[in-house]
Order: sequence, then structure tokens, then C-alpha cells
Amino acid sequence: MFEALPGAGPALNSDGSTDFVLFRKDRIDCTLGADQLREHRLTPTSKTRRVVATCCNTPMFLEFTGGHWLTLYRQRLDPRDRPPVQMRVMTRDRQAGVTIADGLPSYAGHSGKFMLKLMGAWAAMAFRTPRIDYVKGALDGHGT
Ligand SMILES: [Zn+2]
Repeated sequence: MFEALPGAGPALNSDGSTDFVLFRKDRIDCTLGADQLREHRLTPTSKTRRVVATCCNTPMFLEFTGGHWLTLYRQRLDPRDRPPVQMRVMTRDRQAGVTIADGLPSYAGHSGKFMLKLMGAWAAMAFRTPRIDYVKGALDGHGT
């Protein structure tokens, strides 16, 4: 859907996967262009939203609104700032015919080790869940 927006670039890798970098919400902020951000939820009550910059119809991040982390589309980072991909999750949802042929740790669902790391980060945040309050309005006219 995002790729079909006017002027949009690719949102997926050639194999249909998506590279993300997760940040603690207290360690990432929007410093410019927040007025261009709009959210898309799969249903009006979805707790997960994807946020698109409407100036260039580029997906910026995904947020589980109850979570302490922000899931940034990795391609939004300057190439010099992109951390290496560390693992592949939810491979059970990969497109038909996609084979995994590299040495990257891959998990059909989520990784237990990763979930522990995520919980450790939340503990380091004193179990706070900062609000992302700078996204105003919905991409497609429904939701907030
Ligand atoms: Zn833009």
C-alpha cells in the first residue's frame, strides 16, 4: 500500500522482507518535519501504527503504542549510521519461494533472546513508556 502512494519508493526488500532498527523511545526523537507525519493502522482500534512522511510518502517507523521501543525503517538512517542486521524474525510469514541462504540467525517467530534484551531495555527505562505525541492525523482518513 505504501509503495503505491504517489512518488513512493520501495518499502520492502526484493525478497519481501523489511529491515528495522529498534530504538528505546527515550533515545529517539523527531527533530524536523513532524507536521508531515501521518499514521496508518490496519483497523481503527489497532495498537500498532505505521507512520509515513507525506512529503515523499516514505514509511518512517512502526509503533506499538503500548511499547517502550520505536521500530524505525532501517533505510531511513544514513547508510553510515545503519547498524548491521543482527537477526531475522517471523520467517514463517515470508513470501512463498523465498529461501534463507545466509548465516544470519533466523527465527520462525520471535527470538527469546531478543525478547529478553527488549525487556532489559525497558527495565533500564524504569518501565516507563514515553508517548510519541508528534504524529497528527491519519494517512487515510480513519483512525486518529
Ligand atoms: Zn519526505
